[in-house]
Amino acid sequence: MSAPTATGLTNLLGLTRPQLEEYIAGLGSKSFRARQLMNWIYKRGEGRITQMTDLAKDFRAQLAQCAQVRVPRICALQVSADGTRKWKLEADASQAFEMVYIPEPGRGTLCISSQVGCALDCSFCSTAQQGFNRNLTTAEIVGQVWLAARELEAAVGGGPEDDSEESAQVITPLSGRIISNVVFMGMGEPLANFRNVIPALSILLDDFGFDLSRRRVTLSTSGLVPQMYKLAEEANVALAVSLHAPNDALRNELVPINRKHPISELLAACWHYLDEQNGRSVTFEYVMLDGVNDSPSQARELVRLLRGHPAKVNLIPFNPYPGTRYRRSPLATIQRFRDELIRGGVLATIRRTRGDDIDAACGQLAGRVIDRTTVRLGNKTIGLAVQS
Ligand code: SAH
Repeated sequence: MSAPTATGLTNLLGLTRPQLEEYIAGLGSKSFRARQLMNWIYKRGEGRITQMTDLAKDFRAQLAQCAQVRVPRICALQVSADGTRKWKLEADASQAFEMVYIPEPGRGTLCISSQVGCALDCSFCSTAQQGFNRNLTTAEIVGQVWLAARELEAAVGGGPEDDSEESAQVITPLSGRIISNVVFMGMGEPLANFRNVIPALSILLDDFGFDLSRRRVTLSTSGLVPQMYKLAEEANVALAVSLHAPNDALRNELVPINRKHPISELLAACWHYLDEQNGRSVTFEYVMLDGVNDSPSQARELVRLLRGHPAKVNLIPFNPYPGTRYRRSPLATIQRFRDELIRGGVLATIRRTRGDDIDAACGQLAGRVIDRTTVRLGNKTIGLAVQS
């Protein structure tokens, strides 16, 4: 249960339905009020308790004394030429994280962050260069979806939001499904923040919450194998795995968590996940790095790993950022790699790059992170453990 924070008020956004029912019961009120509250918060997008007009006036007054709906503050918004939007959100006075909205015909995907920075140190990822500061809370994770829905409704669905107390305007997040899909592919490793991500998933899927279908919520992991087994027990969302290499020698270099959990263990966890979840397939993300992991023989090696399994490969053209030593593979090389996979019987697609003019593409999210994972001792750097 999320504790009252700096404001002294409990943030209702961080509570799952059972937690909210317990909280409401603790105030001496009937638990069905929890559903009414969720209806206001998630279906109608109302964040002001005093405006939740079908709740008894006394109850509203009592609740407003101890609780609120609190979302991260927006520090900046950038809109790409292709319609992609990137928001920078405040984690605290000195740090920020990012979320990205990608509109496509017939659907809209919100890419959210789970941590301020990331501790996993993948060699080609810009977030990794920033280091790690802290896990986002459940309320900060859910708050991204709530905020984006409201912002998009205001931007796309009819003028600026009227914030005056008299306003009867109701903003309905997810009405018309401006956000149809949510992907945990922003900053951070979601499975390293298991404790806060699991309740966030439950609020995203809850009929009384965002009511998203489990196939439209995707968690992407770099391969924290023990947490993948736990995830199979506790949540049922689509799974994406950042593979990026067809063998351990190369993956150890690109995705260092591989040294702890090599490819064979990772794949076993993937197939277990599908068995437990009745999932259709696992999406394997594979970033295309010029001259590093993009040869036809590496494609054939990948085929040998995945053929015969329920797997899809999503090839991601590398998105460069200042200071990186990698280059994007030429399009012809990427297409050849894809064709080699398909010839070998493995489904493969090429991810279209979106929002790269505003640094909103995969792996370009940077935010503002004060690294506290590494302690420098003379010329030695010691990494601290990732907290979950
Ligand atoms: N930590 C999670 C989710 C975040 S990243 C994970 O690793 O899966 C989402 C995807 O973008 C991952 O597959 C990641 O490896 C990829 N990515 C990271 N940096 C990239 C870059 N510079 N260009 C293209 N893709 C990148």
